[in-house]
Amino acid sequence: MRSLVLIGHGSHLNSDSARAVFRYADLLRGAGLFDEVIEGYWKEEPSLRQVLRTTASTDVTVIPMFISEGYFTETVIPRELGLGHQGPVPPEGIARVIGGRTVRYTLPYGVHPAMTDVIVARAREVLPELGADGPADGIETALIVLGHGTTRNENSSRVIHENAARLAGTGLFSEVHALFLDEEPRVNGWPDRVRAPRVVIVPFFASEGWHTLETIPQDLGLTGQVTDFPGNPHGPQQVLYARPVGTHAAIADVIVHLAEEARGTLGPGGDAERGHEAAWQAFLSRARAGTRIGELLITPELGVFEVRHQLDEGRPGGDLMTLVTPEGVRDQVRVTDGGEHRPVHTLRSVPRGWRAVLNEADLRRAVHYAYPAMVEETYAHSCHALRPTPWATTARRQTGIYAKVQRAVPEQVERVATRVCGACLRTRLWAGERLTHSFLDGVPGGMPCAEACTFLVAEVREEVARKKAAAAS
Ligand code: SF4
Repeated sequence: MRSLVLIGHGSHLNSDSARAVFRYADLLRGAGLFDEVIEGYWKEEPSLRQVLRTTASTDVTVIPMFISEGYFTETVIPRELGLGHQGPVPPEGIARVIGGRTVRYTLPYGVHPAMTDVIVARAREVLPELGADGPADGIETALIVLGHGTTRNENSSRVIHENAARLAGTGLFSEVHALFLDEEPRVNGWPDRVRAPRVVIVPFFASEGWHTLETIPQDLGLTGQVTDFPGNPHGPQQVLYARPVGTHAAIADVIVHLAEEARGTLGPGGDAERGHEAAWQAFLSRARAGTRIGELLITPELGVFEVRHQLDEGRPGGDLMTLVTPEGVRDQVRVTDGGEHRPVHTLRSVPRGWRAVLNEADLRRAVHYAYPAMVEETYAHSCHALRPTPWATTARRQTGIYAKVQRAVPEQVERVATRVCGACLRTRLWAGERLTHSFLDGVPGGMPCAEACTFLVAEVREEVARKKAAAAS
């Protein structure tokens, strides 16, 4: 049995931020190469602290869905997963046994050599004439692999240079250049460097966004996918602007390569994780008799289960939108009725007006999406196996822009928690509160919070910054 975990950054503000990770997870689920594919996030749920507990097998491969190595892949993710490692990840990855699971952590997908093929695939989308030996129309064509670049992280540019060097050896292009937005050699100097009359620019970016849609076209004077530059120093040139590599479907193949390489060095698959399975059996035995979890009502009906908001109890099914997949539930509960993003799923803001009809296997996945890690953590709590992490420990662990939460005094933390956690179903074990009954005992809102979530940490940071600004003014 094998579990694959894709780690994304996520966002406290933007529900679209996780879409690329969803898409690759869905593609890989469809491919059926793993028994399960789980997503985990820094700023959404399941959080990095929770996600390993949500995996069903003892064989877990974790892939950071990042375009380059850096602070998140080397510091934040290993720390939050409890890998006991900080710093550069070796090419063969890191293997640890954590809570009875063998966890293999790989390099981010963006550094895999197969990304060279993704760059070529993106180039072919704007230049269909690009054959196995170069452009079939015989026009000399240059390729620019465009990276963000930053003077703070040489790894992010190294991977661009490596891809450019590999592509220069293929003979597909008359010239190959590695150029950057924020470091030398800069892309806005391309007309002086590139001689070929036709130029393909492939952004080596993880997603479509501000840079790929706005700053790059503006800085380079691009007017669309094809732009003519009649007055360049080397003569007229035409630029073909491709979409970013990180959103290409072939990234799913790169992920499979990474996972297989990580597992290949470390033997066969694992077993069903017993604590995980016991937790879900405890939940399903309640669901089979009809139950409530959080704001949701689960009703068994003729061998399937209906899930709806409990405030929609009694409404005719025809008045509600009917969902038939766990992913449909996932997408439905990501935003409130007012369309606001829900980074913390236990905030009392599940939207109304829908119902899902699911078989038992899909019910598990739908509940996982609706309340990530809650079945596992609540069961662990009932077995006295969920250890709370006090605020001071969470704060001490923070680095980067969040390190300043270490300066928050207890009154500040409590003030923010009263506001934020007051809208949340979970009971703050980390603050010394007690949870005596849970949804597994028939109390729908009974859910433990073992550790302050990143949403609260971010709010405490804001509070500290506000106080400092107020003191200075
Ligand atoms: Fe909910 Fe507060 Fe726990 Fe975050 S820290 S999950 S808001 S109880």
